[in-house]
Amino acid sequence: MPADELRSLYQEIILEHNKNPRNFRVMADADVTLEGYNPLCGDHYTVYLKIEGEVVKDVSFKGSGCAISKASASVMSTMVKGKTRQEAERLFDRFHALVTGKPDQSVNLDEIGSMAAFAGVSEFPARVKCASLAWHTLHAALENKQEAITTE
Ligand code: ZN
Repeated sequence: MPADELRSLYQEIILEHNKNPRNFRVMADADVTLEGYNPLCGDHYTVYLKIEGEVVKDVSFKGSGCAISKASASVMSTMVKGKTRQEAERLFDRFHALVTGKPDQSVNLDEIGSMAAFAGVSEFPARVKCASLAWHTLHAALENKQEAITTE
């Protein structure tokens, strides 16, 4: 597939997730609830996790922000649901490497799925914080941080 086609496909994934975000709801019985805030852009979300043993049984989020931050939170929620804490942390590491332009050479595009849509963000440093906000919030929530996190 030519690079520009791939690029527009990825853009479509972001636009589609922004329009129809997955797991976009308050989770009343969440085990972990954590807020994440990106003051540069005004993205502000709460991430909810339901944890059973080592498994993240359910993930949801609520809040508002730009298209990239919302689509990224949506993709994060679909990818992390049902994974172990360790697998979720690994996905966080991969996402972080992807949007900061240091993709792991061994990354298999099928394996990272819709996450790949955010690779282009690495060209826009101001957008990296938008794209990684939900992932950073997830990471902090898995480490049982209680205080709201901020990208600044
Ligand atoms: Zn943003």
